[in-house]
Amino acid sequence: MKLDSKIPSGSVEQKWERYRLEMKLVNPANKRKLEVIVVGSGLAGASAASSLAELGYNVKCFCFHDSPRRAHSIAAQGGINAAKNYQNDGDSVYRLFYDTIKGGDFRAREANVYRLAQVSVSIIDQCVAQGVPFAREYGGSLANRSFGGAQVSRTFYARGQTGQQLLIGAYQALERQIGLGRCQMFPMTEMLDVVVVDGQARGIVTRNLATGEITSHAADAVVLATGGYGNVFYLSTNAKGCNVTATFRAFKKGAAFANPCYTQIHPTCIPVSGEHQSKLTLMSESLRNDGRVWVPKKKGETRPPSQIPEAERDYYLERKYPSYGNLAPRDIASRAAKEVCDEGRGAGPGGKGVYLDFADAIKRVGEEAIRERYDNLFEMYERITGESGYKTPMRIYPAVHYTMGGTWVDYNLMSTLPSLFVIGEANFSDHGANRLGASALMQGLADGYFVLPNTLGNFFASSKQARISTSHPEFRKTEEEVKARLHKLLSIRGKRTVSSFHRELGKLMWEKCGMARNEKGLTDALQRIPALRQEFWDNVNVLGDGGELNQSLEHAGRVADFIEFAELLCLDALTRAESCGGHFREEFQTQDGEALRNDDQFSFVSAWEYQGPDKPPLLHKEPLVYEEVKMTQRSYK
Ligand SMILES: Cc1cc2nc3c(=O)[nH]c(=O)nc-3n(C[C@H](O)[C@H](O)[C@H](O)COP(=O)(O)OP(=O)(O)OC[C@H]3O[C@@H](n4cnc5c(N)ncnc54)[C@H](O)[C@@H]3O)c2cc1C
Repeated sequence: MKLDSKIPSGSVEQKWERYRLEMKLVNPANKRKLEVIVVGSGLAGASAASSLAELGYNVKCFCFHDSPRRAHSIAAQGGINAAKNYQNDGDSVYRLFYDTIKGGDFRAREANVYRLAQVSVSIIDQCVAQGVPFAREYGGSLANRSFGGAQVSRTFYARGQTGQQLLIGAYQALERQIGLGRCQMFPMTEMLDVVVVDGQARGIVTRNLATGEITSHAADAVVLATGGYGNVFYLSTNAKGCNVTATFRAFKKGAAFANPCYTQIHPTCIPVSGEHQSKLTLMSESLRNDGRVWVPKKKGETRPPSQIPEAERDYYLERKYPSYGNLAPRDIASRAAKEVCDEGRGAGPGGKGVYLDFADAIKRVGEEAIRERYDNLFEMYERITGESGYKTPMRIYPAVHYTMGGTWVDYNLMSTLPSLFVIGEANFSDHGANRLGASALMQGLADGYFVLPNTLGNFFASSKQARISTSHPEFRKTEEEVKARLHKLLSIRGKRTVSSFHRELGKLMWEKCGMARNEKGLTDALQRIPALRQEFWDNVNVLGDGGELNQSLEHAGRVADFIEFAELLCLDALTRAESCGGHFREEFQTQDGEALRNDDQFSFVSAWEYQGPDKPPLLHKEPLVYEEVKMTQRSYK
């Protein structure tokens, strides 16, 4: 396997412009002859499928939900970044580029990040044209707020439901193409494998989740927009259905997996409340625009927050990071919360929480203004905890939220398996070792609306596509493999539920490979995961059968992939003997407890190649060359 990032030459400002000038085009008549499969209908998938269909390609779009509108993207709350500089506060494409590179702890590819910042500007125009109801100022101009890791206000939002509103825009565009017959939608259809013909991804095998029918689909290119793998930790802020199956099975067919250990822990989530909890809830980072984070100065404090005087409170983010304060980036804010809780100064039951306090903001701008900005978030908090965030500080704690790792892709968003493109959270993305808030929506829509429609055309125009149909023997063979795996899962009839395996895996991953990692813990996890995998295949109990709606079977397939994938994640974390962004190795920290990078040895993207069952994956390294920015010790002080 050879990693070629295919970064265009020229200055970083001109690369994308030149690329688009020099790329080859497909003429409209030929586009009508080309078929594209898009798996996923979240922001990345829906924007790609609608844009490609609009261009004239024949598109088939798949999702496991009953409607494309249910993709996990609807959960996004806080906002989407763009370098519009509407606030006149000093923003620019370059500043967004720089903030993203720095926020990612200098572990992202410069050329991609610059392109992302450039394209960000068009995304907002596109969404406004679709009618996305972004918040506006009194005079009618679009409003902005701030997110972590930035000192400017560049986040566009629609109350606390930005993802939902953006997805309605993308979904409408998709529905239009479905209505015009240019895109065929396959809801409740799960992709279970990629079909490779002559070294190229030429189709997929799917299972209809309502009937259990296994079907093949052929195409000239396959696009995966299948989201992130945060649920490998079992408890996360992700929707319960989020999984790694599509990208992991593509990995087994030749698509290298990059930086799996780069996972993001979000600092502001509702704390875990008990053993039987199956989901965690995010309280958007946007709340840190107005909420102040604090813990009692005294260990073991038992007084309610209202009785703790100002002088006995530690606003630790403002104290430690005076220039960014409560808007310190996620990795830093999460570790700081863990630190104060580990010191015994945490709030609430079990001491696993810190306060997010709106009293000052309410005093400053009034409760009505706070309500206008975040009301649905306060309502959600009250419904879950029974407490009003207007009257008493919210209690929050870090939780698994986002995955920066994913399928390795080149500048064209193509994986190491030719014809297989990967977009949105599913690829290893532009966020390096830590994603800044409000940048995932930006990246998913940049990939889907603006980047892929160009790079896919260039790919088609530069390569010859042999006509292939599902009658090719590779489709039969892959279908048989998929059926055999489902049959195996159904025939074990063991004693443990699928969920019990998922929960055990998640607990192990959180303890050994969560917010802090070390060599001993990772080595231990790498010994325990294969044993768990073996037990799963010997003792899992998958109820029902394959020819019907069977959620136990769906879950089992996903958990089986998570267990194998977890090993890759821990191996990557062990191999990366440095701390960077969300990957915090306890052995590598500065005297102040900050992440200590090792640029001499680890300034590369890790891309893992599958070598077959029972063989360790092979590590390939894509060197990260910084021509524009100087790698420095990240500081938000
Ligand atoms: C609670 C929460 C709040 C967030 N808030 C923000 C925010 O304010 N701003 C921001 O920038 N980011 C935010 N994020 C992150 C952001 O929402 C996600 O990164 C982004 O929406 C992912 O979009 P996507 O299109 O890549 O994937 P998804 O939206 O996850 O879509 C995945 C799609 O793939 C389909 N799929 C998956 N596997 C298969 C398969 N095997 N077969 C068929 N279909 C499959 C699913 O059905 C779905 O349609 C938030 C995340 C969470 C969890």
